[in-house]
Amino acid sequence: MKTIGLLGGMSWESTELYYRLINEGIKAKLGGLHSARIALVSVDFHEIEVMQHQGDWASAGQALAQSAQHVEAAGADFLLICTNTMHKVAPQIEAAINIPILHLADATAERIKSAGMSSIGLLGTNFTMEQDFYRGRLVERHGLNVLVPSKEDRDIVHSIIYDELCLGQVKDASRVEYLRIIDQLRQQGAEGVIEGCTEIVMLVQQNHTDMPLFDTTSIHAEAAVLAAIESC
Ligand code: GLU
Repeated sequence: MKTIGLLGGMSWESTELYYRLINEGIKAKLGGLHSARIALVSVDFHEIEVMQHQGDWASAGQALAQSAQHVEAAGADFLLICTNTMHKVAPQIEAAINIPILHLADATAERIKSAGMSSIGLLGTNFTMEQDFYRGRLVERHGLNVLVPSKEDRDIVHSIIYDELCLGQVKDASRVEYLRIIDQLRQQGAEGVIEGCTEIVMLVQQNHTDMPLFDTTSIHAEAAVLAAIESC
């Protein structure tokens, strides 16, 4: 079994989910007392969040590249960046390490395409919903039609992520807002919705809506499990 590298802590609320999902996945595949080989480095999200909101992506990328080197030094065979948003600096991280990155947008796009969908809604931080590193990759590399909420609704989605979910707060009123926005995306033509932030699944799960959801935390964790046992 390969060692899965996790660059986590963004936020730790979702990294905890990765840890559980990956171990459950290995147990389901290999049985018994099998558990995942994991090398995890967890950062202080406060420091990263300040750089994000100052637009200092170069420093954020440098900090994450250094943490990724520690993951590699701890024996990881490949790396998961456990946040959609920080895939913005994936090229910087990739350049600093010798192990491959299992890219979250690619794993998610593969899932959407195998579900036979081509028009997809995207929820995440404003960085993820608005910038090309993620949305653009879905469009250009994978040929998907990506729909995002209105500016006003994007701001609601974004602030619920940082002000509540990353702090471990799950509020019914916020779920109502997310479900309203998911419905708007359906009306715009979306066939499903990407939960393109690794904390969103804490708030909205498939049993809350009949709109097909693509939970990036689970998708990424499942892709890691398959990659880890590939040659077993
Ligand atoms: N975990 C989130 C994501 O998947 C947001 C936190 C971050 O900014 O990294 O985008």
